Amino acid sequence: MNNLENTIDLFLERRRRDITAHIIRLVNIKSVSELSQDHPPYGEGCIRALAEALQIAEQLGFETRNYENHCGTVLYGPQQKHLGMFAHVDVVPEGNGWEYNPFDAVEKEGYLIGRGTNDDKGPAMAALYSMLCIRELNIPMRHGIRLMLGCNEESGMADIAHYKECEPDLPVASIIPDALFPVCYAEKGILSLNAVSPVLKGNIVKLHGGVAGNMVPDSACCVLSGLNIKTACAIPSGLGLQVQTVEEGIMVSAKGISSHAALPEGSENAIRLLCAGLAGCGLLSSHDTMVMANIAGFLGDYYGQGLSIACEDEVSGRLTHICGLMELTEDQKVQLNFNIRFPVTAKPEALLERIRGSLADFGFAITDWSVSPSMFVDPQSPFVQKLTAIYNRVAGTNAQPFVIGAATYARHLPNAVAFGPHFPDRPRLFEGQRGEEHMADECVFIQNILDSIKIYVLSLIEMDRMY
Ligand SMILES: [Zn+2]
Repeated sequence: MNNLENTIDLFLERRRRDITAHIIRLVNIKSVSELSQDHPPYGEGCIRALAEALQIAEQLGFETRNYENHCGTVLYGPQQKHLGMFAHVDVVPEGNGWEYNPFDAVEKEGYLIGRGTNDDKGPAMAALYSMLCIRELNIPMRHGIRLMLGCNEESGMADIAHYKECEPDLPVASIIPDALFPVCYAEKGILSLNAVSPVLKGNIVKLHGGVAGNMVPDSACCVLSGLNIKTACAIPSGLGLQVQTVEEGIMVSAKGISSHAALPEGSENAIRLLCAGLAGCGLLSSHDTMVMANIAGFLGDYYGQGLSIACEDEVSGRLTHICGLMELTEDQKVQLNFNIRFPVTAKPEALLERIRGSLADFGFAITDWSVSPSMFVDPQSPFVQKLTAIYNRVAGTNAQPFVIGAATYARHLPNAVAFGPHFPDRPRLFEGQRGEEHMADECVFIQNILDSIKIYVLSLIEMDRMY
């Protein structure tokens, strides 16, 4: 270990308490991004979380800017030519199953637990403290550094579009602290679409599943009118459905296993379970039985086969698809929201046509859709190779650059890659998906945040030399 790394370690030791306190301050402000008339653009929580983050930066002696509450920036050094870091202070809804309070963060066994600790308020503070470290250690830099803090990353990324309108001079190179280490050199494209079924003709009076389009739902339910608990006893127990009586008849529900749409492996879609169960229970009209069987069929796998769009490529792997939301429309159609992550070489227009065709075979129709394009940076480029080497040296690993199905700000910026701050190989506090980003009891290991600050400092120095 050299002299510089020693001084960075001393800086981190001195600042450990402040760093955790600042992450907690941000996590305790619930900031789910939502379009808001009363508190534009993304609601009161986002306005407050952004103000808090910028205030923390000002208290640390940085100049800041606020872009009409779409996002803010923290500035260091001359800004004509600058290096960028792009993090966000909005979070996804807390969802179900928390053992801890999602908005009253606590420290436990060296971890911080709370919504946003891991995605992305902890990483945002890691980025801020890497700037502080460079300033305190008086490290000479030819470029300025600019940290952007967005408020709409989790629901549309309109924040970065607004930022680019206000600041056309983008950084010469950027890192996005919103993923795993080492470097993500490609992000799959995202096609999200709504489709509707034929009009239902039977006894389904309510139907609902999911909380967000980008998550595999862990619960779904429906109400069947004109039935009592006796008839409900006829439902085979092997279908995994729960039944209870309600005013209109019986409520049938299914429980699944949630996961992020970008990583559906291991999940169990409650919408598929419910629809497959309803199709097999013998309590629906024959028409509605078919509709339910078709929906279950669309969701029979995670890799696009149910929609006839299975494909893969060498640089970015397999296409994945999920259905995250199901609702009954006013005109008695089932509305489904599909979220598809396609490989970088796939053409979204072609996929859309194939989906249109496979849905039409069963009387379903697409009502609206949107595409977020894929991104790709050459994994052999010095930028990707240098950052990967810095991570491997600090973490003592031999990891390779990788591809994700998730979207980060990187796809909206030139010469940008998602880079940490999460360590894929380190122990975790909870089993399974619990504790991960977007999940219940989201948490972050504080030592990982500290190590990521060191990696960011060394990387910014390297990028400063490179450009
Ligand atoms: Zn994030």
